[in-house]
Amino acid sequence: MRIVPVAVAVLAAILLVSGVPGATVQRTMARAVPSGVAQPGASGSPEPTAATPTPTRPASKYAARLPQFSAPPTPEPVTVPDGPNAAWYHRIPTSQPVAFITIDDGWVKHPEARELLAAAGVPVTLFLTIDSIKDNPDYFRQLQSDKVTIEAHTISHPSLRGQSYALQRRELCGSADQLGKWYGRRPIFFRPPFGNKDTTTLKAARDCGMKAGFFWTETVHEGKVRYQKGKTVQAGDILLMHFRPAFVEDFIAALVAIHRAGLTPALLSDYVR
Ligand SMILES: [Zn+2]
Repeated sequence: MRIVPVAVAVLAAILLVSGVPGATVQRTMARAVPSGVAQPGASGSPEPTAATPTPTRPASKYAARLPQFSAPPTPEPVTVPDGPNAAWYHRIPTSQPVAFITIDDGWVKHPEARELLAAAGVPVTLFLTIDSIKDNPDYFRQLQSDKVTIEAHTISHPSLRGQSYALQRRELCGSADQLGKWYGRRPIFFRPPFGNKDTTTLKAARDCGMKAGFFWTETVHEGKVRYQKGKTVQAGDILLMHFRPAFVEDFIAALVAIHRAGLTPALLSDYVR
């Protein structure tokens, strides 16, 4: 019976070197190596034979529902033009076969989001509102990884269009500052609440170091994808969903739509520089 915990511990070690997000590995390790159980090597147990292939994703009950994507292309990023205003994109002008999943706000902290994002292993950009996440910033720290980045979506979620420069700057820059403190990376992108912006928004954002803001081309709600144009996801499209009760169904619907279109999810920060 000793071989079982040893084998699981070795599997956890393999996951560690294969670059699986840290949070998942920690959880796997915690389960795999209960206190009092000898570490592999310490007891002189033989190493298990290397017959098991190296897993690329953690085992998950969602595995069967998640589409398999081909490897993403090497990004050919668009360059944000210099100027007094942040850039603004409805979609990314690329012909590469990629689309972008974005998830907004943060009010509903679904208990399955962490496992689902880790199991899917695809790039995702989060636009988080300070007021909706301040009761539990750690929840989003656990989602963060080299594929899941956190960008700004204001402090209190007002409609910015028509508001003063001072208010817009406070909302955008204040939220970027706070997210930087919590998550160790200051956002370089933003999404204005409701997608409402004006030139003051773009100026305020640029003045505090943000490069670009993003609208969207598809929305996902209660497991359904709604298209602003046509009936399929196009290369460069940006899908918008929220942290809502149907998180699992929404996320899987977004993946299925991207897969059906022959595209692969990509990270906004890999495509806008
Ligand atoms: Zn929002």
